[in-house]
Amino acid sequence: KAQVYIYSNPFDGFPKPGDLTIIEEDLRPLLDGEYLAEAHYLSVDPYMRGYAPGFKVGTPLIGGQVALIRESKNPNFPEGKYCFGQFGWRSYTIANGVYDRSTAVNMQYVLPDFKGLSPSLGLGVLGMPGNTAYFGVEEICRPKVGDTVVITGAAGAVGSHVGQIAKLKGCNVIGITGSDDKGKWLCNELKFDSFINYKTQDFKKTLKQIAQDGVDCYFDNVGGEISSIIINQMNSFGKIAVCGSISAYNEKQAKASVIQGPVTLQQLRMEGFLVTRWNNRWGEGINKNLQWVQEGKIKYRETITDGFENMFQAFTDMLKGVNYGKSIVRVKSL
Ligand code: NDP
Repeated sequence: KAQVYIYSNPFDGFPKPGDLTIIEEDLRPLLDGEYLAEAHYLSVDPYMRGYAPGFKVGTPLIGGQVALIRESKNPNFPEGKYCFGQFGWRSYTIANGVYDRSTAVNMQYVLPDFKGLSPSLGLGVLGMPGNTAYFGVEEICRPKVGDTVVITGAAGAVGSHVGQIAKLKGCNVIGITGSDDKGKWLCNELKFDSFINYKTQDFKKTLKQIAQDGVDCYFDNVGGEISSIIINQMNSFGKIAVCGSISAYNEKQAKASVIQGPVTLQQLRMEGFLVTRWNNRWGEGINKNLQWVQEGKIKYRETITDGFENMFQAFTDMLKGVNYGKSIVRVKSL
C-alpha cells in the first residue's frame, strides 16, 4: 500500500495540521513501461505553500522525492537505481517515465552518479534548489568581480548556495537571515562577508553601514518590506533576480509594496525566473554543483526530519525558518 498526503482543507494563513490528511492506496501490478518507486527522501519546499491557491482540494500534495526503483518494466528506469520524481507527498508511486519538459510537471529522471555522496542531495544542492542557485546567478544576476551582492533567505537551500557562488565570482556577499546563529554559519563556514538579522537589527540602517557603496545585485527570495529597503539602496544599473517571495506566502491577503521608484530612477534590471526555464540544461547545473562540492568550493547542509508521518511538521518548520540549508524528510536511508 502507498501512503499519500491529500490536500483536504485549503490553507488559510499558516498551514494547520488538519489541512492535510494521509490516505492509503492499493498498489496494482505494473504495466509495460511503468516502474515502482519507493520514497526514501522527500522534499519540503516553500513553493508548496506559495502555489497553494492553485491546488485542488482532494488531490495529493505536490512535491519532489528521491526514490529507489523497486520494480521496473521500463528499461530507462532500472530496478535498484535511485531516481528523482516529482511524484508528490507519497510513499510509493507507479510512474511511467513520461513528463512535460516545459513545465516539469511529473519531472522524473534516474539520478546521475553522485560519486559516493548521499542520494538525498538530489533534493538540494544537486537538485532543484542547487540549479535555482546556479542558473539564477549565472543567467540572471551575472555579478561582476567586486560587486556587492545581497541575498535574502540567505541560510536556506537556495540562498546559502547563491552566496557561495557569488563568493567564487569575487563578490562582496551580504546574507540576510532571521537568526544570528545562521548568520554566523554563513560568515564562518560559507565565507559570506557579512550578515544582517532582519528580525533583530535596524535593517535599513545596518544595510547602509555594511553596504557603504550600495548594492549591485540583489537575489530576492523573500519579497515584501525587506526587499523594498534593499532595492532603495541599489546602485544604477543594478540587477535583481526575483526568485521567490516567502514573506508573503502565509499572508491571508497580498500586501502592496512600493519599489517602482528606485527601479525606474536607478534603471534597474529586475527579472523573475523559474528554474524550469533551464530544464534542457538540468544536467549541466547538477554536474557543475557536484564538481564544486567535490572541490570543497560549495558546502551544503541538510536539515533532516525522520518519518513520512512527520512531513507536515518538517514543512511548517521550514516555513518558520527552523532549517539550515535544505529541509528534507528521510523515510529510509542507505
Ligand atoms: P529555504 O531553505 O530558504 O527555507 C525557507 C526560509 O525562508 C526559512 O528557513 C526562513 O529563514 C525564511 N523565511 C521564512 N519566512 C520568512 C519571512 N517572512 N521573511 C523572510 N524570510 C523568511 O527555502 P528554499 O531555499 O527552498 O527557497 C527559497 C526561496 O526561493 C523561496 O522564496 C522559494 O519559493 C524560492 N524558489 C524559487 C524557485 C524558482 O524557480 N524561482 C525555485 C526554488 C525556490 P530565516 O530563518 O532566515 O527567516
